[in-house]
Amino acid sequence: MTTVYVKLTGLGSNWTKPCQHAVTDLNSQFKRNGIKVVLATSGSQGPTITVKTDHSIQGDAVHGRTTAESNDSGKMLRAEVRLPVKVTINTPGPGILEVIAGHEFVHALGHSVHNSQLMAQTMYKEMGDNAAGDKLKAGSVRMPPLTLSPDSISELKSIWN
Ligand SMILES: [Zn+2]
Repeated sequence: MTTVYVKLTGLGSNWTKPCQHAVTDLNSQFKRNGIKVVLATSGSQGPTITVKTDHSIQGDAVHGRTTAESNDSGKMLRAEVRLPVKVTINTPGPGILEVIAGHEFVHALGHSVHNSQLMAQTMYKEMGDNAAGDKLKAGSVRMPPLTLSPDSISELKSIWN
C-alpha cells in the first residue's frame, strides 16, 4: 500500500473542502476496488500531490491541469495539480469542484488517458435545486459521489498494485 500525500496548504477555502471530499471519495473507491494506494491530507512523507490554483486556467473550464513525474514502473513520485481560481459556470456547488479536483488527483496518480465516469473527457453540468445539488454528468453517470470505471480501476491497479 502506498500513501500519497495531497498537499492542500495555501489553497483557497472554496477549494479545500471539495478537495478533502474528493480524497475521501477516492479512498473509498480505491479500497472497494482493491487499488493499493491511499490519499492523505496530513503528513508529508513520500510521493506528494501539490494542489494550487492557477489564474491562467479559464473559470468556465471543468478541467484543471496536472503534471506528474513517475518512476520506471509508472508510480507517481510528485505531481502538481492546478485548479481554476474561480469556477464561473453559474455558481458551482462544492460537488462540481469535488469532481474537478478528484479527476485531476487521478491524473496525478498516473492515469493519463480519458475514458468514462470520473475520467471522462467531457462532462456536462446538471443544475440541482440549489448549488449544493449541482452535479457533473459523464455519459449516464452523475457525480458526486465519484465513481471510477472498470478501465480506470484496471489502470490504477496496473500502476499501484
Ligand atoms: Zn482530464
